[in-house]
Amino acid sequence: MIGAEPRLGDLIDDYCHRCRLLLNHAIASLVDGHVVKVICQTCYSEHAYQHGQGGKKKTGPRATLFDQVLAKVSSPEEDSESVATKKKPAEPARHITRRKGKSPRSKS
Ligand SMILES: [Zn+2]
Repeated sequence: MIGAEPRLGDLIDDYCHRCRLLLNHAIASLVDGHVVKVICQTCYSEHAYQHGQGGKKKTGPRATLFDQVLAKVSSPEEDSESVATKKKPAEPARHITRRKGKSPRSKS
């Protein structure tokens, strides 16, 4: 007769959204013998019973966006090398010419 029916206060495993882990939860409310609410025994937050499931891996648009960013990050390396090899032709150096004679300090 063990585990036939959940009772209030029984410990069951469930996913805690706050802890983001599958942890011990105490049954907080029952409806027709089915667990409805549980209390996390780690952070003591009460939430609906997730049936041990939760923390869905975010796949879809976000993952694809990440892949796109990765693709963009990885590709420019080749471009930067090609740019580095294609240097502009060196401009003729500009020489600074000083006037001989008058220096500001010799004026006295
Ligand atoms: Zn928790």
